[in-house]
Amino acid sequence: DTAANSWDARAGAHMLYGFTDLPSVQARGAVVLTHGEGPYVVDVAGRRYLDANSGLWNMVAGFDHPGLAAAAKAQYDRFPGYHAFFGRVSDQTVMLSEKLIEVSPFARGKVFYTNSGSEANDTLVKMLWFLARAEGQPERRKILTRWNGYHGVTVAAASMTGKAYNALFGLPLPGFIHLTCPHYWREGRPDETEAAFTARLAAELDEVIAREGAETIAGFFAEPVIGAGGVIPPSAGYFQAIQPILKRHNIPLIADEVICGFGRTGAVWGCQSYDFIPDAIISSKALTAGYFPMGAVILGPDLSDRLQAAAEAVEEFPHGFTASGHPVGCAIALKAIDVILNEGLLDNVRALTPRFEAGLSRLAEHPHIGEWRGKGLMGALEAVADKPTKTPFPSTLSVSERIANTCTDHGLICRPLGQSIVLCPPFILTEAQMDEMFDKLEAALTRVFSEIGA
Ligand code: PLP
Repeated sequence: DTAANSWDARAGAHMLYGFTDLPSVQARGAVVLTHGEGPYVVDVAGRRYLDANSGLWNMVAGFDHPGLAAAAKAQYDRFPGYHAFFGRVSDQTVMLSEKLIEVSPFARGKVFYTNSGSEANDTLVKMLWFLARAEGQPERRKILTRWNGYHGVTVAAASMTGKAYNALFGLPLPGFIHLTCPHYWREGRPDETEAAFTARLAAELDEVIAREGAETIAGFFAEPVIGAGGVIPPSAGYFQAIQPILKRHNIPLIADEVICGFGRTGAVWGCQSYDFIPDAIISSKALTAGYFPMGAVILGPDLSDRLQAAAEAVEEFPHGFTASGHPVGCAIALKAIDVILNEGLLDNVRALTPRFEAGLSRLAEHPHIGEWRGKGLMGALEAVADKPTKTPFPSTLSVSERIANTCTDHGLICRPLGQSIVLCPPFILTEAQMDEMFDKLEAALTRVFSEIGA
């Protein structure tokens, strides 16, 4: 393995990495992986890493689940691919749709399939626009989301995402409006109680609706717990405060459950953890335990009925992907749901949550950890230069990246997001593996803070 033909050089020569700190990868080399064992992934040199990210939040059953691979193989042997156009659809797709409505918080509803979470968000935006026109309100097009919310990378989903980097693409599109992130520790004003903070965000929503005109707003999309924005649970009472305002103006509330869905927060859905029922759910990632690329729009009764009527009025809903409702993806999703709900994965999330929270709160005692946040098995530790004032480290120090890189060197993959380190391990984790995760992270924190003289 000479330098020129190393795996790292081959990857660097032929791949344009997405969401990658390129100077860091050029300096450190790519980690090229061959396989996984439970929650561990193994690289070309045989090094093992505990993946505390579950891939990208999705590999919740780990990397070698025999039941999921067998479900895929059986379906490949039986019927390896089909679409869901023209009233033709695989039996697996029908069965998954029934199952998704059964496990949804909706008494009834309908499902539409995509290949990813981004496409599911774009699809629902198009559904809302289609509906608005069908119902004689073509001006109802604006989409409300929050700063730091992450909804994906396709053009509408990127426009929904509340991240400054989208300006590099000239996005968001007009009419995509971002409200304050419901992060009390960061966004709360000095002397503002959490209840007052939540009330301020509800008042902001009221003001935005008044300013823009309720009749111009198609929907409000929110992750129950903001994920890629740095694991940010909502301030207390947030959804209870905003939902009545949206209802009053007939603005659908959409729960983007791409990360929270299927158990991550300790309930099947994040909305159940926060005690609200949205008008529709966006699902992906854990939907197939990451074993197949698939997304789903799950519509509650009101949106289902109205979209069905709107589609009948013009004969069809002219939207869909070649692989919408792919039979192999659906067979895997059926198995994944069974594994999560009936083979103890969701139970394990609940059982491990106290130990996870104890680990996070112990590390948050460090003088340079300002806050720990979490819900179920998603958590974050935010680094600060000065704890009382919550002052961040200068971004030039790349503190969270250094911590994550040090972890990688010691066999732990965790994710730097802003100045936070994010942990979202697979649901199959054992207590011993969780202790390994925290021990390695603690050693990395201690080392990096001492290296930078903090
Ligand atoms: N919505 C949320 C909440 C996500 O976390 C993500 C991806 O991380 C997406 C949407 C986009 O999903 P995808 O990357 O499959 O397009």
